[in-house]
Amino acid sequence: MTQPRHLALAILVLASRLFAAAADNPPAADLGYKDTPIIPGTPWHVHDSDRPRPPVVTPGPGFSQLALAPADAVALFDGKDLARWSDSRGNPSRWKVADGWFESTRGSGGIRTREKFADFQLHIEFATPASVTGTSQGRGNSGILINGIYEVQILDSYNNPTYADGQAAALYGQQPPLVNASRPPGEWQTYDLVFESPRWDDKGVLVKKAAVTVIHNGLVVQNHTEFFGSTDGVGAIPHKALGAYGQRHPPEVFIELQDHGNPVRFRNIWLRPLVPASVPVAP
Ligand code: MG
Repeated sequence: MTQPRHLALAILVLASRLFAAAADNPPAADLGYKDTPIIPGTPWHVHDSDRPRPPVVTPGPGFSQLALAPADAVALFDGKDLARWSDSRGNPSRWKVADGWFESTRGSGGIRTREKFADFQLHIEFATPASVTGTSQGRGNSGILINGIYEVQILDSYNNPTYADGQAAALYGQQPPLVNASRPPGEWQTYDLVFESPRWDDKGVLVKKAAVTVIHNGLVVQNHTEFFGSTDGVGAIPHKALGAYGQRHPPEVFIELQDHGNPVRFRNIWLRPLVPASVPVAP
C-alpha cells in the first residue's frame, strides 16, 4: 500500500504547485477583454484589460464598522434572521445565518429585500472568504444588485488583479472606483452608499439616470456616479455587453445580494429612505 500512497502524495504536491502557479499568474483572459464594446465617453472597452487600475489606499481602522442604525433607519439585518429577505421567487432565503452574520450560499441564488425603496442611504458590511481561492472575478465575488440590474461590485480586491471596472466598489462594467480601499480577505469592510433611482417621464423618456455615491471603508470611491444603464451580466444585459436602460421601472427598487458562488459574509445592514415613496422628481 506504500507505493500508491506515495503516488497520491506526489499527485497532490504537483496539483497544489500548479494551483499556486495559476493563482500567481491568472490567465490573460481572466484580467479582461479587448473584444467588447467601447464605453461611450471613454477610450476603454467594457472590462478592458488595459484600463488603469485605481491606486491602492490603506483605509484607517474600523470606519463605520458596527455603526448603530439611526432612529429613522430600516434594519435590514440586525444579526438575527433574514425575515426581511427572500429569494428571487419570494420564498424564504436559504443563505446560512450564524450569530450576527449571514453568508451567500453557493447555488441558492441571490437574496433580495422584500420591501422596495426609492432613493436611499445604505450601510452594509461584508467580508470576503479568509481562505483565498480563485483569481480575478472568481475570488470573493458577490455584489449589491439594486433592483437586480444595477451592480455595485463586491469582490476580494486585496492583491487580486482583475479588470478595473470589475473590482470591488466598481459599477460593474462601467466605472472603476476612485481608489482601491479594500481590506484583506476575511476582514470586515463597509460600504456606505447613497443611491438615486432613475426616473422616466409619462411618455417613457428617461429624464434622470440612476446615480450612486459609495464610501468604502471610509474612502469616497464613487462620487455621485451615474449608471449609464443596467450593468452587464445581470438582468437583460449579457456579460461583456454595454449596459443600457431597458424598460422603465418605478423608482422604488429592491436590494439584492448576489450569489456568485463564493461564500461572502454580511452583517449590520440598515437603510434610510431619502424621499417618501412615489414622489416624482422633476426633469
Ligand atoms: Mg459581482
